[in-house]
Amino acid sequence: MNITPSSARTTVDPTGHITGDVQHLVRTMGDLQGVFSDVAAYEEIPADTVAYRVESFMPIAPGTPGGLFFGTSFVEPGTVGGEYYMTRGHFHESRDASEMYWGIAGSGYVVMQSESGDVNVEAIEPGSVHYVPGRWAHRVVNTGNTQLVVGACWPADAGHDYAALAQVGFGVRIISTNGSPKVVANEADPV
Ligand code: MN
Repeated sequence: MNITPSSARTTVDPTGHITGDVQHLVRTMGDLQGVFSDVAAYEEIPADTVAYRVESFMPIAPGTPGGLFFGTSFVEPGTVGGEYYMTRGHFHESRDASEMYWGIAGSGYVVMQSESGDVNVEAIEPGSVHYVPGRWAHRVVNTGNTQLVVGACWPADAGHDYAALAQVGFGVRIISTNGSPKVVANEADPV
């Protein structure tokens, strides 16, 4: 037997950036309609302002049973009416699908919410590892002054269900109080 190892076509560097077989997704403020509580503050921000970018390694077709995807999210720092920049958040279309997150750079929170409305918030920092159980909606929030970089690995057949979450919204918001993050109940209309 004579096997010559091949080099990986896809690589991830220590800053989370993926090269090789990588797909890029950009989410601007214009894509985050209805996410932030302060609508007036939201509308003052140019719609083409980047809120976050995602680099993904998706080596098989979406929906493939047993498959895995791998990616990195880069969430910009900032606030909208005192509320920190965050990802839209979603349930998985395949409700039992879970996900792994890990902190690479910056600081923030992962906000998780069960179908019955229970909320769990974990602090993300470099090296932290977070298990998002199936049936829990999830988003990440950048509570720092620098880019929040979060790695993720999720089932290829998880899918994204934004509509189910939009109907109920997250029960908490993360706001800046004297420069420090605070978790508050979401009193406003559902996200
Ligand atoms: Mn997910």
